[in-house]
Formats: sequence, structure tokens, C-alpha cells
Amino acid sequence: MSGGANQYLVDPLQRFGTTVFAQMSALAIKTQSINLGQGFPDTDGPSEVLEAAVSAIHSGKYNQYPPGIGHPELRHAVAEHQKRFWGLDFDPDAEVLITAGATEALTAAILALVGPDDEVVTFEPYYDSYAAAIAMTPGRRKVVTLRAPDYSFDPAELAAAFGERTKVLLFNSPHNPTGKVFAQAEIELIAKLCVEHDVIAVTDEVYEHLVFDDNVHLPLALQPGMAERTVTISSGGKTLSVTGWKIGWACAKPELLKAVQTAKQYLTFVSGGPFQPAVALGLGLGDDFFAGLAADLQAKRDKLCEELTAAGFEVNVPQGTYFVTADIRPLGFDDGIEFCLGLPQRCGVVAVPCQVFYDNPEAGAHMVRFAACKQDDVLDEAMRRLAALKS
Ligand code: PMP
Ligand code: GLN
Repeated sequence: MSGGANQYLVDPLQRFGTTVFAQMSALAIKTQSINLGQGFPDTDGPSEVLEAAVSAIHSGKYNQYPPGIGHPELRHAVAEHQKRFWGLDFDPDAEVLITAGATEALTAAILALVGPDDEVVTFEPYYDSYAAAIAMTPGRRKVVTLRAPDYSFDPAELAAAFGERTKVLLFNSPHNPTGKVFAQAEIELIAKLCVEHDVIAVTDEVYEHLVFDDNVHLPLALQPGMAERTVTISSGGKTLSVTGWKIGWACAKPELLKAVQTAKQYLTFVSGGPFQPAVALGLGLGDDFFAGLAADLQAKRDKLCEELTAAGFEVNVPQGTYFVTADIRPLGFDDGIEFCLGLPQRCGVVAVPCQVFYDNPEAGAHMVRFAACKQDDVLDEAMRRLAALKS
């Protein structure tokens, strides 16, 4: 999916081309298909949050560069949020850094921490920016496979991935694209390996509030020995349904955070001034807002799973996130890329092939990802169209 070679682009970035999300969204527009590819909601977030951004612009107080570490009200709101929901303690003035989305926080952390020959352990399938960020360093990635259909991993394989050169564990839960929410025993094992091998964990928790049924989000930083070696990252995009605002944060002990900030300040320096107080307001909304967000999305997940099953897919029911992954083999296909490239022509729907998120594509070649974060009538129409695949 990366497109052809580019004569100007440096070798380490050649394989990255255009992101699968941008490609698939462009394909949806070109073919006027329903876009269940790129993960973004098709309804706006809470109106008081939107209004707060508008007021911030008109107040004349937020239209110039924010402080390098972010506006104080957002840093305080992030620290309060971490305490309120997860019991994590961060000093808003020394342990919270505001970034241009989680993406910048992740990239800054990787750039700050990964040196020559250092290794970054991560699970595959992995969010696409991880491989690109690691490719911008002199280090390399080492992947451990989450195996469909249940996306479990082999503890021995994980233990074997940690070695002398392991500097960072890059860890995402709730996990994109699989929808897996890592369980207590898995989190404990991961933390134990980080402590034993003196590894820094960089955690991507952007779906922290999108968790279903009786699953629970467990921040890695809460595990014994992890608070001092974890950079906890998230953003307001999913929680507040404002993915275009790109307000994120990294939280860590002061010296570790300072390292991330050093890299971050030369990426964007600062960003999104007027959105910062609005996200601060959003993080302080009542419990009913956060519970309602998860409940709404869970209902959409149920709907999408049911409809995909009826259309003939073998569905993995996700524990969290925006996404549902499904096996295309019962429909007579085995290559997700081919399937997704043909889907708009065949029935006017766009999905994302999971194999682009693997180093070992055969592990996910038969899986495709659909976004559930759409209005019910959009999901219904997509499913009406997908039903045609069976005939
Ligand atoms: N991590 C994961 C797992 C994601 O799915 C996304 C996409 N939203 C991001 C990071 C990027 O988050 P942001 O838009 O805040 O940069
Ligand atoms: N995180 C979104 C997804 O997985 C996409 C964000 C992006 O396009 N970079 O679909």
C-alpha cells in the first residue's frame, strides 16, 4: 500500500509512502463510498467543549504561542483526569507535557529515547506511526505478534523479544486495530519484563475511555516499578470526539518528561492554543459523559458485529476502541489489501486491511478493520451494501 519508490525520500522512510488511512479516505471520497476505514466519529463532541474553543479564540488570550509545556489549565486538567480515572499521580507543573496529538507525544518520546542499535519492542499489528517514528531514529523495532482470532500472544515470545539492546517498550491498550484491552495478567507480565530489563515503557492510551462490557483499562504506569519508567500518552481526540484538534499529552517523572520535551520542542514547539482550554473543560466533564461515550460506542460495536456476521464475515468482538476486525475468508477472500481495494467498486464501502500493520503480514492478511464510530443509519446502509458480498 506504500506506493512506488520516491527518488527524494531517504531510505529509512521509503516503505512508508502515504498512510493507509489517508489512502483509504481518499478512495472513499473518489468512489463516494461509505468510509468505515479511517477512525473518526461522524458526530461532534460535547457542545460545551466546542463552545469553549470558540470563546477561547474570541477571548484574545489564547491566540499566541502557548507555554512550551502547555497552558496551565490543561496541564492541571490532565493531572486531575489521571488521578480521577486511574489513580495516577502527576505534578501538573513538572510531569505533564501538552503535545500536538498523541502522535507527536509518541514520536517525540521515540526520538528522545532511541539511540544507535537500541531496540523498541512493540506488538503487531501496530498503529502505523510507530514503525515510521522508529525509522526516524538509529534504532530498530522488534515485534511480538498478537494472533487472530483472539489476539493473544505467546508469553515466551514476548520474553524472548526483550534483550540487552531493548531500550523502549511501545505499548498500546486499548489496542488499534484489534480492539484488544490487555488483561491484568498480561499487563503484569509486560511490567515485570520492563523492570527486569530496565526498559522504558511508552504507552499509547488514546482509547482509554472506549472500553466495553466488564473490561477495564489498566495503565501500565500503575504496576510496581513502572511509575518511574513510563511515559503515559493520550489525547483528547477520541475522548471528546474532536480528532482534528490534535491536542495530546505525555505524563512522566520530571527527568524522563524533560527528555521527551527536548525532542518535542523542535517538532512543533507548541500547538493548538485555543483548543487547550476547551480540552481542559472536556476532561472535567461528569462521569455520565464518560460512561455515555463508552455505552454509545458499545451499542455501535454490537450493531456492526451483528451486521458483519450476517454479511458472512467471521467477526472478532472487540473489547474497546473504535474498531471491529473481521476475517474475510468465509466470504471466499484471503488477501485483505486486494479485498479492501476492490470493496468500493464491489459495494461502495471502505475498510482498512490489517496486514499493513504487521511486519509479518501473513499473520493478518485475512483480517480487515471496520470503524464502528458512525451514525446508526450510516452503519445500516454500509451493512445493506456489504450484504451483497454473500450473493
Ligand atoms: N495512537 C493510536 C492507537 C491511534 O489509533 C491514533 C489515531 N487516532 C493515535 C495514536 C493518534 O492520536 P492523535 O490523533 O491524538 O495524534
Ligand atoms: N487513528 C486513526 C485510525 O486508526 C487514524 C488517524 C490517522 O489518519 N492518522 O484510523
